Parts: sequence; C-alpha cells; structure tokens
Amino acid sequence: MELVISNLTKTYPNGVRALNSISLTVPQGMFGLLGPNGAGKSTLMRTIATLQEADLGTITLDGIDVLKDKQAVRERLGYLPQDFGLYPKISAETMLDHIAQMKGIGKKTERKELVEALLNRVNLFKDRKKALGTFSGGMRQRFGIAQALVGNPSLIIVDEPTAGLDPSERNRFYNLLSEIGENTIVILSTHIVEDVNTLCSNMAIICMGEVLMQGKPKDGLAMVNGKIFQKSIEKSDLDQYRKEYQVISTKLISGKLSLRIESEEAPGNGFEPVPADLEDVYFSFISRKVDPITI
Ligand code: ADP
Repeated sequence: MELVISNLTKTYPNGVRALNSISLTVPQGMFGLLGPNGAGKSTLMRTIATLQEADLGTITLDGIDVLKDKQAVRERLGYLPQDFGLYPKISAETMLDHIAQMKGIGKKTERKELVEALLNRVNLFKDRKKALGTFSGGMRQRFGIAQALVGNPSLIIVDEPTAGLDPSERNRFYNLLSEIGENTIVILSTHIVEDVNTLCSNMAIICMGEVLMQGKPKDGLAMVNGKIFQKSIEKSDLDQYRKEYQVISTKLISGKLSLRIESEEAPGNGFEPVPADLEDVYFSFISRKVDPITI
C-alpha cells in the first residue's frame, strides 16, 4: 500500500501559493509531515482527503486516482481534521453510532459491536455515556481517532492532533496512534518535532509549499550529524552571533541563551560539538527557507 503525490500545486484566489509542486511517496506505517505554521500542511491534508481541489498534479492511493475518484478514496479514508467540531450535548456512544450509520453500517447489532470495540480501543468505554462537551482535550482527540476508524480505513490523516494536549494525554495519544500505524497508512501533520521523533518511521519536512527533505528520521540525522555545535551566550549577544554563524535554534535556560549552530567545521570560540537530534534536522532544513529564530 502506498500513497504517491506528484507535482501537487495549489494557489489560493488571494495569490498565496500554498503548494508548490509537492512530490511525496508515503508508504504503510506512520508518516510525519513536519513544517512550520503556514507551510501548506493543512492544504495538503485537505487535498488528500478530497475536500479541496488542486490546480495541478496527481495523487494516487494504490492505483486509485484520488483527485478524480473521490468516492473510492472516501470509502478508504479516516480523517481527523485540525478544527474538529463536536456536538456538545450528544454522548460519545450516540455520536459514534450515528457516524457509523452515515458511513453505511446499516445493521443495529453490527453498529453496537463496532461502537463498543472502538470505544474500548481508544479507552473511552467508561465515558461512553458522557456528553462530548464535557470531554478534556485528550479525550476529544481520542474520540476523534475513534470516529476516523469507523469503516476500517486504509488511509488515516490526522492534522495537528497533539496541539494543546498535556504531556500525559499526549503520551496516551501517541500509544494509540502507534498501534493504528501498524497496518495502515497514517499521515500525521504537525509542527511538533517530538511527535515525529516518537512515532514516525518515515517523514517529510515542508516549508513554504515545498518539500525540503523526505526519508527516514535517521537519514535526516545522518545529514546533519557532526555539524551541530552548541554554546551558552548572553541574550544581548545573539545578533552578533547570528551575523557570524548559521544559527539554527536558541533555547532560554536559566536566563542564558543556549545557541545551536550548524557548521561544516569546528567553529572554536567556545562552541562544543553536540549529537544532532531531529529538532536540529528540522531547523537545519527550514532555516534554508525562513528565519528559524522568528517563527
Ligand atoms: P499549515 O497547515 O502548514 O499551517 P496551511 O495549508 O493552512 O498551512 O496554509 C498554507 C498557506 O496558505 C498559508 O500562507 C495560509 O495563510 C494560506 N491559506 C490557507 N488556506 C487559505 C485559504 N482558504 N485562502 C487563502 N489562503 C489560504
């Protein structure tokens, strides 16, 4: 199973080119689509989910022409959008039953079994009678996964799913996603590097509508390993350092700035070599397009 995107291009009526000839091959498993806000991730997700047209290019899912044969894709698709609205007064159980009915599962007993299995799977069975409006952020996202799983999709798209979750909710959500990723294509769109680091066997970095890198996280790491150096500096000296070095990220630690730079050779001047992490890969690539400090 494979999703292949070729030369996908989209310009909005206001002139913003959100996708600029995007080509990606997405194999089975968890695929992380990483990029800053405004990179084009949601535009790409909505286009794959058949909710939006592209100007140019093709998308195929196992031989199905996604842009033309929308119905065939919708039958195989589970989608958890970024702004996932819920009916606040309806219970989780009733809502899932309703979604299952809309997805064509006509038999009541079959739906009951499915709804129970899904609620158990996302660990919401004990909360099944509660109104959706009373759910925490993490519960909402797990419910979102349950509704995306109705109909046994072979392609699941989740758009920025961990934004706003606290660390324990995020962990639970990670565990759930990684289980699902075993026998489907799951595309996880996010600007949180940790999401991709924890979950994804394949990834791409996009920025300003272009693919800057695609491959396995370890391929990305190999590209920057040995080139990352760190130094703790005064905040007021940042501008000077930015003039002299290729600064890829800064972190404030107890009032001082920990600066990370990319350099082919040891820069000296108090910089220490550090092992590269996926955040370095991300900032290294996007710094070629945008200022990584101001985003
Ligand atoms: P991301 O999901 O990575 O934050 P988006 O796909 O939402 O990126 O947006 C990509 C670019 O397209 C941004 O510059 C955004 O402002 C613009 N954009 C998104 N949706 C629309 C729209 N409906 N009309 C006009 N511009 C849009």
